[in-house]
Amino acid sequence: MKKEQAGLYIHVPFCLSKCGYCSFYSIKSVNLIPEYIAALKKEIKFYRNIFSSFDTIYIGGGTPSLLSVRQIDDFISTVNKYFDINLQAEITMEVNPGDVSLEYFQALRKSGINRLNIGIQSFDDRVLKFLGRRHSSKEATAAIEAARTAGFNNLGIDFIYGVHGMGIQSWKNTLRKGVSFAPEHISCYQLSLDDSTPLYKKYSSEGWHLPDENTELKLFLATAEELENAGYIHYEVSNFARLDKFKSLHNQKYWHHTPYLGLGPAAHSFLDNKRWWNKAAVKTYLNEIADGKMPVEDTEILSAEQLQLEALFLGLRTKAGIDLKLYKTRHGIDLLADKKAIIDALIKNKFVELKNGFLRPTRAGMAIADSLALI
Ligand code: SF4
Repeated sequence: MKKEQAGLYIHVPFCLSKCGYCSFYSIKSVNLIPEYIAALKKEIKFYRNIFSSFDTIYIGGGTPSLLSVRQIDDFISTVNKYFDINLQAEITMEVNPGDVSLEYFQALRKSGINRLNIGIQSFDDRVLKFLGRRHSSKEATAAIEAARTAGFNNLGIDFIYGVHGMGIQSWKNTLRKGVSFAPEHISCYQLSLDDSTPLYKKYSSEGWHLPDENTELKLFLATAEELENAGYIHYEVSNFARLDKFKSLHNQKYWHHTPYLGLGPAAHSFLDNKRWWNKAAVKTYLNEIADGKMPVEDTEILSAEQLQLEALFLGLRTKAGIDLKLYKTRHGIDLLADKKAIIDALIKNKFVELKNGFLRPTRAGMAIADSLALI
Protein backbone atom coordinates (compact mmCIF):
# COMPACT_ATOMS: atom_id res chain seq x y z
CA MET A 1 0.00 0.00 0.00
CA LYS A 2 1.28 3.47 -0.92
CA LYS A 3 2.39 5.32 2.20
CA GLU A 4 0.12 8.28 2.81
CA GLN A 5 1.74 11.66 3.29
CA ALA A 6 1.18 13.42 6.57
CA GLY A 7 -0.59 16.74 7.17
CA LEU A 8 0.71 19.61 9.26
CA TYR A 9 -1.63 21.69 11.44
CA ILE A 10 -0.58 24.92 13.14
CA HIS A 11 -2.81 26.28 15.87
CA VAL A 12 -2.88 30.06 16.33
CA PRO A 13 -4.44 30.62 19.78
CA PHE A 14 -5.08 34.37 19.57
CA CYS A 15 -8.40 36.20 19.10
CA LEU A 16 -9.02 39.92 19.55
CA SER A 17 -12.39 39.23 21.17
CA LYS A 18 -14.38 36.19 22.17
CA CYS A 19 -17.38 35.15 20.06
CA GLY A 20 -20.39 34.36 22.26
CA TYR A 21 -20.67 30.71 21.19
CA CYS A 22 -17.00 29.78 21.22
CA SER A 23 -15.54 27.42 23.79
CA PHE A 24 -12.12 27.08 22.12
CA TYR A 25 -9.20 28.26 24.15
CA SER A 26 -7.77 31.53 22.86
CA ILE A 27 -6.23 34.65 24.38
CA LYS A 28 -6.21 38.31 23.46
CA SER A 29 -2.51 38.94 24.24
CA VAL A 30 -1.36 39.50 20.68
CA ASN A 31 1.88 40.98 22.07
CA LEU A 32 2.90 37.32 22.60
CA ILE A 33 2.72 36.51 18.88
CA PRO A 34 6.47 37.07 18.15
CA GLU A 35 7.40 34.75 21.04
CA TYR A 36 4.80 32.24 19.85
CA ILE A 37 6.27 32.19 16.30
CA ALA A 38 9.75 31.66 17.73
CA ALA A 39 8.38 28.78 19.84
CA LEU A 40 6.67 27.15 16.85
CA LYS A 41 9.96 27.23 14.97
CA LYS A 42 11.61 25.42 17.87
CA GLU A 43 8.75 22.96 18.34
CA ILE A 44 8.86 21.80 14.74
CA LYS A 45 12.50 20.77 15.15
CA PHE A 46 11.45 18.13 17.73
CA TYR A 47 9.72 16.27 14.92
CA ARG A 48 12.52 16.19 12.34
CA ASN A 49 13.11 12.48 12.80
CA ILE A 50 9.49 11.51 13.27
CA PHE A 51 7.89 13.09 10.18
CA SER A 52 9.70 13.68 6.90
CA SER A 53 7.22 15.27 4.52
CA PHE A 54 3.83 16.92 4.35
CA ASP A 55 1.43 17.43 1.48
CA THR A 56 -1.02 19.62 3.39
CA ILE A 57 -0.46 22.50 5.78
CA TYR A 58 -3.39 24.06 7.62
CA ILE A 59 -3.01 27.23 9.68
CA GLY A 60 -6.08 27.39 11.91
CA GLY A 61 -7.21 28.93 15.15
CA GLY A 62 -8.06 31.10 16.88
CA THR A 63 -7.45 33.84 14.36
CA PRO A 64 -4.46 33.16 12.08
CA SER A 65 -5.10 36.41 10.20
CA LEU A 66 -3.75 38.26 13.26
CA LEU A 67 -0.29 37.09 12.11
CA SER A 68 1.63 39.39 9.81
CA VAL A 69 2.72 38.06 6.43
CA ARG A 70 6.32 38.31 7.60
CA GLN A 71 5.55 36.01 10.56
CA ILE A 72 3.81 33.51 8.28
CA ASP A 73 6.71 33.65 5.80
CA ASP A 74 9.17 33.10 8.58
CA PHE A 75 7.35 30.02 9.84
CA ILE A 76 6.74 28.49 6.39
CA SER A 77 10.44 28.93 5.52
CA THR A 78 11.32 26.97 8.66
CA VAL A 79 8.92 24.18 7.69
CA ASN A 80 10.53 24.05 4.25
CA LYS A 81 13.97 23.92 5.80
CA TYR A 82 13.31 20.76 7.81
CA PHE A 83 10.68 18.89 5.79
CA ASP A 84 9.86 17.98 2.21
CA ILE A 85 6.80 19.92 1.21
CA ASN A 86 5.15 18.46 -1.84
CA LEU A 87 5.14 20.98 -4.70
CA GLN A 88 1.40 20.53 -5.05
CA ALA A 89 0.81 20.79 -1.31
CA GLU A 90 -2.50 22.27 -0.21
CA ILE A 91 -1.57 25.17 2.10
CA THR A 92 -4.64 26.61 3.81
CA MET A 93 -5.06 29.52 6.13
CA GLU A 94 -8.19 30.48 8.07
CA VAL A 95 -8.93 34.19 7.96
CA ASN A 96 -11.35 36.52 9.67
CA PRO A 97 -13.09 38.90 7.22
CA GLY A 98 -12.54 41.86 9.54
CA ASP A 99 -8.73 41.58 9.50
CA VAL A 100 -7.86 41.34 5.84
CA SER A 101 -7.17 43.50 2.79
CA LEU A 102 -6.21 42.99 -0.84
CA GLU A 103 -2.56 43.71 0.00
CA TYR A 104 -2.60 41.12 2.80
CA PHE A 105 -4.05 38.46 0.49
CA GLN A 106 -1.57 39.30 -2.28
CA ALA A 107 1.30 38.91 0.15
CA LEU A 108 -0.13 35.64 1.50
CA ARG A 109 -0.17 34.20 -2.00
CA LYS A 110 3.49 35.08 -2.38
CA SER A 111 4.17 33.24 0.90
CA GLY A 112 2.81 30.06 -0.63
CA ILE A 113 -0.69 30.03 0.89
CA ASN A 114 -2.88 28.61 -1.89
CA ARG A 115 -6.17 28.03 -0.13
CA LEU A 116 -8.17 30.31 2.15
CA ASN A 117 -10.93 29.45 4.56
CA ILE A 118 -12.89 32.59 5.36
CA GLY A 119 -14.99 32.57 8.54
CA ILE A 120 -18.04 34.32 7.07
CA GLN A 121 -20.60 32.60 9.41
CA SER A 122 -23.53 34.64 8.00
CA PHE A 123 -24.39 37.41 5.58
CA ASP A 124 -27.05 38.67 8.00
CA ASP A 125 -25.68 41.44 10.22
CA ARG A 126 -28.20 40.64 12.96
CA VAL A 127 -26.94 37.06 13.11
CA LEU A 128 -23.30 38.19 13.12
CA LYS A 129 -24.03 40.55 16.00
CA PHE A 130 -25.96 37.89 17.87
CA LEU A 131 -23.00 35.49 17.54
CA GLY A 132 -20.59 38.20 18.74
CA ARG A 133 -18.53 38.23 15.55
CA ARG A 134 -16.25 41.21 14.93
CA HIS A 135 -17.05 41.60 11.23
CA SER A 136 -20.05 42.77 9.20
CA SER A 137 -21.71 41.27 6.17
CA LYS A 138 -20.16 44.06 4.06
CA GLU A 139 -16.68 43.11 5.28
CA ALA A 140 -17.44 39.45 4.50
CA THR A 141 -18.28 40.32 0.90
CA ALA A 142 -15.21 42.56 0.61
CA ALA A 143 -12.97 39.76 1.94
CA ILE A 144 -14.22 37.27 -0.65
CA GLU A 145 -13.82 39.80 -3.47
CA ALA A 146 -10.32 40.74 -2.32
CA ALA A 147 -9.33 37.06 -2.13
CA ARG A 148 -10.50 36.53 -5.72
CA THR A 149 -8.73 39.69 -6.92
CA ALA A 150 -5.55 38.48 -5.24
CA GLY A 151 -5.82 35.32 -7.34
CA PHE A 152 -7.03 32.74 -4.81
CA ASN A 153 -8.79 30.09 -6.84
CA ASN A 154 -9.35 27.70 -3.97
CA LEU A 155 -11.58 29.46 -1.52
CA GLY A 156 -13.60 27.98 1.33
CA ILE A 157 -16.24 29.77 3.36
CA ASP A 158 -17.69 28.74 6.73
CA PHE A 159 -21.26 29.28 7.87
CA ILE A 160 -23.18 28.68 11.08
CA TYR A 161 -26.89 27.89 11.15
CA GLY A 162 -29.58 26.96 13.66
CA VAL A 163 -29.15 30.33 15.41
CA HIS A 164 -32.00 31.70 17.54
CA GLY A 165 -34.24 34.04 15.53
CA MET A 166 -32.43 33.29 12.27
CA GLY A 167 -35.33 31.73 10.39
CA ILE A 168 -35.01 29.45 7.40
CA GLN A 169 -35.28 32.35 4.95
CA SER A 170 -32.35 34.24 6.47
CA TRP A 171 -30.35 31.01 6.31
CA LYS A 172 -31.24 30.36 2.69
CA ASN A 173 -30.38 33.99 1.82
CA THR A 174 -26.96 33.52 3.39
CA LEU A 175 -26.41 30.28 1.49
CA ARG A 176 -27.52 31.83 -1.79
CA LYS A 177 -25.30 34.84 -1.33
CA GLY A 178 -22.41 32.50 -0.52
CA VAL A 179 -23.06 30.44 -3.65
CA SER A 180 -23.14 33.62 -5.76
CA PHE A 181 -19.35 33.91 -5.20
CA ALA A 182 -18.90 30.30 -6.42
CA PRO A 183 -16.49 29.38 -3.60
CA GLU A 184 -14.73 26.09 -4.16
CA HIS A 185 -15.69 24.85 -0.70
CA ILE A 186 -18.47 25.56 1.80
CA SER A 187 -18.69 24.30 5.40
CA CYS A 188 -21.99 24.60 7.28
CA TYR A 189 -22.05 23.94 11.01
CA GLN A 190 -25.12 23.80 13.22
CA LEU A 191 -24.70 26.00 16.27
CA SER A 192 -23.91 24.03 19.40
CA LEU A 193 -23.35 25.62 22.77
CA ASP A 194 -21.03 24.50 25.50
CA ASP A 195 -22.36 25.51 28.92
CA SER A 196 -19.25 27.62 29.57
CA THR A 197 -20.08 30.09 26.78
CA PRO A 198 -21.79 33.49 27.20
CA LEU A 199 -24.32 32.59 24.52
CA TYR A 200 -25.32 29.44 26.41
CA LYS A 201 -25.97 31.61 29.48
CA LYS A 202 -27.99 34.02 27.34
CA TYR A 203 -30.08 31.14 25.94
CA SER A 204 -30.68 29.85 29.47
CA SER A 205 -31.67 33.22 30.90
CA GLU A 206 -33.95 34.06 27.97
CA GLY A 207 -35.50 30.59 27.85
CA TRP A 208 -34.35 30.06 24.25
CA HIS A 209 -33.54 26.64 22.88
CA LEU A 210 -31.33 25.24 20.17
CA PRO A 211 -33.39 23.65 17.37
CA ASP A 212 -35.04 20.36 18.39
CA GLU A 213 -34.19 17.16 16.48
CA ASN A 214 -36.95 17.68 13.98
CA THR A 215 -35.95 21.26 13.15
CA GLU A 216 -32.28 20.23 13.03
CA LEU A 217 -33.16 17.58 10.47
CA LYS A 218 -35.18 20.03 8.36
CA LEU A 219 -32.35 22.57 8.40
CA PHE A 220 -29.79 19.91 7.53
CA LEU A 221 -31.84 18.62 4.61
CA ALA A 222 -32.65 22.14 3.35
CA THR A 223 -28.93 23.01 3.45
CA ALA A 224 -27.92 19.87 1.55
CA GLU A 225 -30.65 20.40 -1.03
CA GLU A 226 -29.84 24.08 -1.56
CA LEU A 227 -26.12 23.43 -2.08
CA GLU A 228 -26.55 20.27 -4.14
CA ASN A 229 -28.95 22.13 -6.41
CA ALA A 230 -26.23 24.74 -6.81
CA GLY A 231 -23.86 21.97 -7.97
CA TYR A 232 -21.92 21.28 -4.78
CA ILE A 233 -20.90 17.77 -3.70
CA HIS A 234 -22.02 17.02 -0.14
CA TYR A 235 -18.94 14.96 0.69
CA GLU A 236 -19.04 15.06 4.48
CA VAL A 237 -21.79 15.87 6.98
CA SER A 238 -20.77 19.54 7.25
CA ASN A 239 -18.72 19.96 4.06
CA PHE A 240 -19.47 20.70 0.43
CA ALA A 241 -17.08 21.02 -2.53
CA ARG A 242 -17.69 22.45 -5.99
CA LEU A 243 -15.61 19.67 -7.59
CA ASP A 244 -13.89 16.55 -6.25
CA LYS A 245 -10.52 18.30 -6.48
CA PHE A 246 -11.73 20.98 -4.07
CA LYS A 247 -12.51 18.62 -1.18
CA SER A 248 -10.31 19.63 1.74
CA LEU A 249 -7.27 17.35 1.48
CA HIS A 250 -6.20 18.30 4.97
CA ASN A 251 -9.49 17.50 6.69
CA GLN A 252 -9.66 14.19 4.88
CA LYS A 253 -6.53 13.15 6.76
CA TYR A 254 -8.45 13.44 10.04
CA TRP A 255 -11.29 11.32 8.66
CA HIS A 256 -9.03 8.62 7.20
CA HIS A 257 -6.61 8.14 10.08
CA THR A 258 -3.79 9.55 7.98
CA PRO A 259 -0.87 10.80 10.11
CA TYR A 260 -0.82 14.47 11.03
CA LEU A 261 1.35 16.67 13.17
CA GLY A 262 -0.20 19.52 15.17
CA LEU A 263 1.97 22.38 16.41
CA GLY A 264 1.08 25.13 18.86
CA PRO A 265 -0.95 25.20 22.06
CA ALA A 266 -3.67 22.52 22.30
CA ALA A 267 -2.80 21.09 18.86
CA HIS A 268 -3.40 17.35 18.38
CA SER A 269 -1.22 14.91 16.44
CA PHE A 270 -1.76 11.37 15.19
CA LEU A 271 0.68 8.71 14.01
CA ASP A 272 0.08 4.94 13.68
CA ASN A 273 -2.02 4.15 16.74
CA LYS A 274 -0.84 7.05 18.84
CA ARG A 275 -2.55 10.39 19.47
CA TRP A 276 -0.97 13.17 21.51
CA TRP A 277 -1.83 16.76 22.23
CA ASN A 278 -0.12 19.88 23.50
CA LYS A 279 -0.73 21.90 26.62
CA ALA A 280 -3.40 24.50 25.93
CA ALA A 281 -2.26 27.48 28.02
CA VAL A 282 -0.10 29.73 25.84
CA LYS A 283 2.21 30.76 28.68
CA THR A 284 2.86 27.13 29.68
CA TYR A 285 3.45 26.21 26.03
CA LEU A 286 5.95 29.07 25.62
CA ASN A 287 7.75 28.28 28.90
CA GLU A 288 8.14 24.59 28.12
CA ILE A 289 9.56 25.28 24.68
CA ALA A 290 11.91 27.88 26.19
CA ASP A 291 13.11 25.14 28.60
CA GLY A 292 13.80 22.84 25.64
CA LYS A 293 10.86 20.53 26.47
CA MET A 294 8.16 19.15 24.22
CA PRO A 295 4.95 20.86 25.38
CA VAL A 296 2.92 17.64 25.23
CA GLU A 297 0.01 17.40 27.67
CA ASP A 298 -0.79 13.73 27.18
CA THR A 299 -0.56 10.76 24.84
CA GLU A 300 -3.14 8.11 24.09
CA ILE A 301 -2.43 4.74 22.53
CA LEU A 302 -5.53 3.70 20.65
CA SER A 303 -6.51 0.04 20.97
CA ALA A 304 -7.44 -1.97 17.88
CA GLU A 305 -11.07 -1.67 18.93
CA GLN A 306 -10.88 2.14 19.35
CA LEU A 307 -9.30 2.52 15.90
CA GLN A 308 -11.96 0.34 14.36
CA LEU A 309 -14.81 2.28 16.03
CA GLU A 310 -13.31 5.62 15.01
CA ALA A 311 -12.98 4.41 11.41
CA LEU A 312 -16.65 3.46 11.51
CA PHE A 313 -17.70 6.78 13.05
CA LEU A 314 -15.61 8.91 10.68
CA GLY A 315 -16.34 6.83 7.58
CA LEU A 316 -20.11 7.06 8.04
CA ARG A 317 -19.88 10.87 8.15
CA THR A 318 -18.50 10.91 4.59
CA LYS A 319 -20.40 10.45 1.36
CA ALA A 320 -17.72 8.01 0.12
CA GLY A 321 -18.42 5.86 3.18
CA ILE A 322 -16.33 2.93 4.36
CA ASP A 323 -14.10 1.05 1.96
CA LEU A 324 -14.93 -2.46 3.18
CA LYS A 325 -11.79 -4.07 1.73
CA LEU A 326 -9.53 -1.46 3.30
CA TYR A 327 -11.44 -1.75 6.58
CA LYS A 328 -10.75 -5.50 6.61
CA THR A 329 -7.07 -5.01 5.80
CA ARG A 330 -6.63 -2.37 8.49
CA HIS A 331 -8.80 -3.81 11.24
CA GLY A 332 -9.05 -7.53 10.40
CA ILE A 333 -12.85 -7.37 10.49
CA ASP A 334 -15.39 -8.22 7.83
CA LEU A 335 -17.79 -5.41 8.73
CA LEU A 336 -20.71 -6.79 6.73
CA ALA A 337 -20.50 -10.18 8.41
CA ASP A 338 -19.75 -8.75 11.84
CA LYS A 339 -22.76 -6.36 11.90
CA LYS A 340 -25.00 -8.17 9.43
CA ALA A 341 -28.37 -7.77 11.19
CA ILE A 342 -27.98 -4.07 11.92
CA ILE A 343 -26.53 -3.21 8.49
CA ASP A 344 -29.38 -5.09 6.79
CA ALA A 345 -31.87 -3.05 8.85
CA LEU A 346 -30.13 0.23 8.00
CA ILE A 347 -30.14 -0.66 4.30
CA LYS A 348 -33.83 -1.56 4.49
CA ASN A 349 -34.58 1.81 6.13
CA LYS A 350 -32.47 3.61 3.50
CA PHE A 351 -29.93 5.03 5.93
CA VAL A 352 -26.98 3.30 4.26
CA GLU A 353 -26.31 1.58 0.95
CA LEU A 354 -23.73 -0.81 -0.44
CA LYS A 355 -22.04 0.33 -3.61
CA ASN A 356 -18.83 -0.87 -5.31
CA GLY A 357 -17.43 -2.32 -2.10
CA PHE A 358 -18.27 0.74 0.01
CA LEU A 359 -20.80 1.02 2.83
CA ARG A 360 -22.02 4.58 2.51
CA PRO A 361 -24.63 6.75 4.18
CA THR A 362 -27.58 8.05 2.17
CA ARG A 363 -28.50 11.71 2.71
CA ALA A 364 -30.97 10.60 5.43
CA GLY A 365 -28.14 8.56 6.95
CA MET A 366 -25.77 11.52 6.89
CA ALA A 367 -28.35 13.53 8.81
CA ILE A 368 -28.06 11.07 11.69
CA ALA A 369 -24.43 10.09 11.06
CA ASP A 370 -23.37 10.25 14.70
CA SER A 371 -26.12 7.78 15.69
CA LEU A 372 -25.32 5.50 12.75
CA ALA A 373 -21.84 5.01 14.11
CA LEU A 374 -23.27 3.58 17.34
CA ILE A 375 -24.08 0.39 15.48
S1 SF4 B 1 -12.71 33.96 16.10
FE1 SF4 B 1 -13.09 31.73 16.11
S2 SF4 B 1 -11.71 30.91 17.70
FE2 SF4 B 1 -11.83 33.17 18.01
S3 SF4 B 1 -13.44 33.44 19.54
FE3 SF4 B 1 -14.44 33.62 17.52
S4 SF4 B 1 -15.11 31.52 17.02
FE4 SF4 B 1 -13.65 31.36 18.71
